[in-house]
Amino acid sequence: MRILDIAERSVPISRYADPSVPSGGLTTSIVAVTTDIHRDGTPVVGYGFSSIGRFAQGGLIRERFAPRLLALADEDIATPDGHTLDPFRAWNAMMAGEKPGGHGERCVAVGTLDMALWDAAAKIADVPLHRLLAGMTDRPATDDPVPVYAGGGYYFPDDDIARLKDEIAGFQAQGFTQTKIKIGALPLAEDLARIEAALSLLPADALAVDAMNSYGADDLPETAAALAPYGLRWFEDICDPLDYALHAETVAVYAPPIAAGEALFSEPDARNLSRYGGLRPGHDVMVFDPAHCYGVPGYLGIIDEMRDGGWSRKDFLPHGGHLFHLHLAAAFGLGGCEANPHNFQPFGGFADHTRIDDGHARPPGIPGIGFEARGALIDLFQTLTS
Ligand code: MG
Repeated sequence: MRILDIAERSVPISRYADPSVPSGGLTTSIVAVTTDIHRDGTPVVGYGFSSIGRFAQGGLIRERFAPRLLALADEDIATPDGHTLDPFRAWNAMMAGEKPGGHGERCVAVGTLDMALWDAAAKIADVPLHRLLAGMTDRPATDDPVPVYAGGGYYFPDDDIARLKDEIAGFQAQGFTQTKIKIGALPLAEDLARIEAALSLLPADALAVDAMNSYGADDLPETAAALAPYGLRWFEDICDPLDYALHAETVAVYAPPIAAGEALFSEPDARNLSRYGGLRPGHDVMVFDPAHCYGVPGYLGIIDEMRDGGWSRKDFLPHGGHLFHLHLAAAFGLGGCEANPHNFQPFGGFADHTRIDDGHARPPGIPGIGFEARGALIDLFQTLTS
């Protein structure tokens, strides 16, 4: 088998359901990987995007990684029986000659293509992605529902508290039992007012807060001391992701769970977090984003790397809130994953008809990742090949 074509484009993406609200100029890359395998008379095409919340990686995809995939011969990319695509082999080919260190944005470019390769491989195998992943990694196949929580709670430019409460009530009406909101951009007293408003609707162990790496050594101790008595579900992205010492110092004074890893992208980063971050396996939460971490092979490497530090798969709840990560959580027996029901559209959220049942969801049962069951997203992807 061969990869015949890779199409790529950068598109804007908004944190808000209303895209007219300013959202920092975020973008993402969308890709379409066309194979020479046919199903129902048409070539199998895998789709991917650069997860959400960061930036597109078109230059690296076009100049470095897509050409490597397009140059591969059958024996470089096919499964041993020659019948289908092996994304692990394709990943090795993409990374050939890459140097240690310098993970920066390369990991996102590779993760974007990796997502499309998995979509194509599962479509060729005619199974939902989570079943293919389980089979290729010797995990038991299961259709058990995955614990999910609703990510959102960004600051609104006006009527912030009222709109925040409306947003959380909307999540609850959809079937979510846990929610994550943002803090860290306002004075502490105002953020505490946001938390109090959320807690008027949710129990403390169902509310997580995400500081988006905004605190430093000067203001994190005071914030952690103020948050600790609430006993929240977790306190996420508490400071610069590479400041392992400040993580360790905070753990010493903050007893409830802390979440980290969203802005770390490599096995060496994970090793350092495990060694020096002071975080507590079985208590704290690892929110590494697989699509930002070199895709499935990179993410599995991070899980393996951290196992030596006592971390289990149940400690991992991927950031991102979209279909790809729902499949990974199902396949690998993770602790759950984020959902972005109305942010970062059309990428956030699951299939159009996914039911959220008491805070759980199942991946769609169609072949691949299931983008075809998310109308606005598949329409966008198909503009790459039309
Ligand atoms: Mg975060």
